[in-house]
Amino acid sequence: MGLVAALVLGKAGVQVTVVEAAAQLSMDLRASTFHPPTLDMLAAYGLTDQLVSQGLVARYTQQRDRQEGVIAEFDMQLLKGDVDHPFRLQCEQWKLTELIRQQLEALPHVTMLFSTKVESVTQTADKVNAVVACQGESRPIQADYMIGADGAWSATRRALDIEFEGITYPERFLVISTDFEYADHLPRLSYVNYCSDPEEWCVLLRVPTLWRVLFPTPAEESDEHVMSDEAVQARLQRLLPQAQPYKTLHRTLYKVHQRVAKEFRQGRVILAGDAAHINNPLGGMGMNGGVHDAMNLSLKLLQVIYQGASTDLLDLYERQRRTIAIEYINASTARNKREIEERDPVRRKQTQDELRTIAADPVQARAYLRKSSMIDALERAESIA
Ligand SMILES: Cc1cc2nc3c(=O)[nH]c(=O)nc-3n(C[C@H](O)[C@H](O)[C@H](O)COP(=O)(O)OP(=O)(O)OC[C@H]3O[C@@H](n4cnc5c(N)ncnc54)[C@H](O)[C@@H]3O)c2cc1C
Repeated sequence: MGLVAALVLGKAGVQVTVVEAAAQLSMDLRASTFHPPTLDMLAAYGLTDQLVSQGLVARYTQQRDRQEGVIAEFDMQLLKGDVDHPFRLQCEQWKLTELIRQQLEALPHVTMLFSTKVESVTQTADKVNAVVACQGESRPIQADYMIGADGAWSATRRALDIEFEGITYPERFLVISTDFEYADHLPRLSYVNYCSDPEEWCVLLRVPTLWRVLFPTPAEESDEHVMSDEAVQARLQRLLPQAQPYKTLHRTLYKVHQRVAKEFRQGRVILAGDAAHINNPLGGMGMNGGVHDAMNLSLKLLQVIYQGASTDLLDLYERQRRTIAIEYINASTARNKREIEERDPVRRKQTQDELRTIAADPVQARAYLRKSSMIDALERAESIA
């Protein structure tokens, strides 16, 4: 999310240095869903049309049951009056960062340093001093402000000794991607499908060239076993038996957390994105929440830098975005997980009946979509003074 902040600040003429530990931008398959308000925000920078041309417009999302099929289908067009882009865009996260990199390269006052790792951060009343390591050598970088958007293991957050409060789930999540065309075999499949099951829930997400299937994996299974061909094929065959083995293209196994930093700001250093809060991926709120942080923070920094606004405005960023991370992002994703994995048959039926009722009523369906698309969260943030 550091790149989004760099873009907003850089486009406004601020001198920015992006420090990236890796040799290049990550091409890993991570987030793949852009929610409507995120698309609205990115449109101001000419990014949304480019992303749409490289992604898939998902008009519908589904809640399914692995045995029964579709429980409820939601039509994102119900959000027409709420947003400019009433759909979810299924598009790989790396396409966004690549498009931003191209724009940043054209800005002479923005510098991007790759293979450069932040090692320590200190600050005085009017400057931030970071020490970065590049090719085995340490060197200082000084700035007026620093945005720590260095991910879940944030060196910035650790340098500031900020607690990362929350939990780590005992199970890990496995994402398998395959070129198998599920839509030819599972009736009425949309591009975004949350499939509940008391034994093994899953999420089926389409991106332009493949399907991604997300499964939980029991804590007691070793990484080697979970990632083995035998176990991967068994999972895919349980979901949809096929005579042939599945061709898989990527496998990612990762720990899942619900954590929020105790502070988002200390003086001139401010946390954003995964450095500030992390959550399970059910609902696609990690990357989107990070973009919302970066936009909120950068626009406030511009007011401080150019309009002489008080740095107290940066505390408002913390109040707004930390509240949303706790009350909304973590609460919604935790609830999504509880519902998709529910084992009690009575509660499962109750949830499914509720979903059917909501989806059948356009007023309730719109309210549901406003929440799941993070529109309510952004309006709530704006209401915090
Ligand atoms: C498998 C997977 C699937 C996901 N699916 C979704 C989804 O469907 N929808 C969704 O919204 N979110 C999803 N997410 C979450 C989403 O990818 C993250 O929320 C998002 O990448 C956060 O962006 P960020 O910039 O804050 O952190 P990151 O993307 O982690 O970027 C941090 C950057 O900082 C760099 N860095 C780290 N330490 C240092 C240092 N000391 N010095 C310099 N640079 C450093 C890293 O190299 C990295 O490039 C998923 C995540 C994973 C792992």
